[in-house]
Amino acid sequence: MANSTLQTDVVIIGGGGAGIPAAIEADKAGAKAIVLEAAAECGGTAAISGGGCCIVGTPLQKSQGIEDTPDLAFEDWVKWGGGAADEIWARFYLEHTLHDLYHWAETCGAKWVDMKFQEGNRVLRWHRPDNNGLGLMTALIKNAQALPNVTIMTSTKAGKLLTQDGRVCGVTATRNGETLEIRSKVVLVATGGFNSNLDMVLEHRPEFKKFKVMEGSGFGAKGEGHQMVKELGGYFTHMDCIWFYVYATPDYRDPQQRRGLVFRQVPGYIWFNQQGKRFHNESVTGGASATPALLRQNPPHAWALADTPMLAKIDVADPYYRRGDVIDRSKVEELLNNSPFIKKADSLEELGRKTGVEDINNFLAEVEDYNKCFDAGLEKEPRFGKSLKTSKKFDTPPYYAIQIFPLARKNFGGVKTDLHCRVLNKYFEPIPGLYAAGEVAGMAGGHINGKAGLEGTMLGPSIFSGRVAGAWAANEAGFGTGFIGNPNRPELD
Ligand SMILES: Cc1cc2nc3c(=O)[nH]c(=O)nc-3n(C[C@H](O)[C@H](O)[C@H](O)COP(=O)(O)OP(=O)(O)OC[C@H]3O[C@@H](n4cnc5c(N)ncnc54)[C@H](O)[C@@H]3O)c2cc1C
Repeated sequence: MANSTLQTDVVIIGGGGAGIPAAIEADKAGAKAIVLEAAAECGGTAAISGGGCCIVGTPLQKSQGIEDTPDLAFEDWVKWGGGAADEIWARFYLEHTLHDLYHWAETCGAKWVDMKFQEGNRVLRWHRPDNNGLGLMTALIKNAQALPNVTIMTSTKAGKLLTQDGRVCGVTATRNGETLEIRSKVVLVATGGFNSNLDMVLEHRPEFKKFKVMEGSGFGAKGEGHQMVKELGGYFTHMDCIWFYVYATPDYRDPQQRRGLVFRQVPGYIWFNQQGKRFHNESVTGGASATPALLRQNPPHAWALADTPMLAKIDVADPYYRRGDVIDRSKVEELLNNSPFIKKADSLEELGRKTGVEDINNFLAEVEDYNKCFDAGLEKEPRFGKSLKTSKKFDTPPYYAIQIFPLARKNFGGVKTDLHCRVLNKYFEPIPGLYAAGEVAGMAGGHINGKAGLEGTMLGPSIFSGRVAGAWAANEAGFGTGFIGNPNRPELD
């Protein structure tokens, strides 16, 4: 028996990258919406993300002389997705990114500041907002908080979906030890992915059971929404398409050591395997390149070698290592000095010994070869073609070896939805009253990326599908016209 019952038009479960835009759209349509967020604050994984979004044909691209079109981006997208992308959703997203993501986010107060190259794209199209994911989400959350029809309930964890006469009609929740029932005309699940639930990762990638892999998404990405939808017969697809990164080391502060810490901004480093050999161009770090290379090693882990100046700007993608958006250097030092997965030594030989590499001569020879490239004035080292522009000789002790393992970061598969974000059952028929958007729906529609993502293709589609879902959920509840976007077709402008 619930302690209290609330009533609304649309319940949105999850106040992150998809849930907040959904609430903004529901309000715009005139529907009352309640957002349930398990954490003390909204933002989810989106707020700790790099914030990069794959967007096509933008003023920022034009200012740098880049000609990009949805057609060009679509070709890159489908090719990179290895034949597994949902082409209809990919097309729908790409056609709409300019107006319905880039300009829309600007109207909410976000600012796009620069772009970065990402593997698989023929042109720059990964757009970064000011202050990364935190900046983008702060702007969207502020908007949602100011809306008259939106109620945001933080520290409120949704439990079970409620049904009546074959329709989803609400959800149970807990808040401060109280149980609640929120009754609604429709429910939208926007609970994110499952990469902070190692058991679920291993269930879908059982071949990893014999290796160490780590949890690496936001803290709320436990797959709870997946469970809710599964109980009502939602059809899940591409669940094994998990995007792993390898530049991550175990979080030694996690008692179970399931969680990993992604570290960035160490472009000088090189990686060596347990035999003491390099195996990859370390400047190519994507999930479709570095990850398979690491997984081919025996055992499938590596050591990232750096000297002291190379670690000056290291950034650890975890809230503990930051004050807002600023790196907390003392916490980073604490990690470097205390983690059993990080070795430190005054000589390379001693470091090699501490890592336990099988052949220390291999390791020393690799470093010597690499250092010689600088004496020869080379632009790239010849073994794997790593650019030496942002690198230097290993010459300033103490030296560090950071042990790296695969880390599950993003889910490219999830619950199948139609283009209105209605959850489909195994007969590909909508489950009445149930919507899903964001990473629980493989970012959008079930599997918008396929086997690999061009980057910026997780947050962008999560926000976009959140908007689409919010508008159509409101429509089913009796408000507004559903999502009417503005495609990137200059001839229509
Ligand atoms: C460190 C990092 C960096 C990233 N950088 C990028 C990037 O630069 N570009 C990109 O495209 N993608 C990036 N991603 C991926 C991207 O951030 C996610 O795919 C995106 O945020 C998913 O949005 P979402 O709304 O589905 O999930 P989230 O943003 O995680 O929101 C889900 C919310 O649901 C809440 N929730 C879960 N269960 C419940 C429950 N039972 N009751 C109530 N609330 C619940 C969670 O607490 C959370 O707040 C990154 C991911 C990580 C981990």
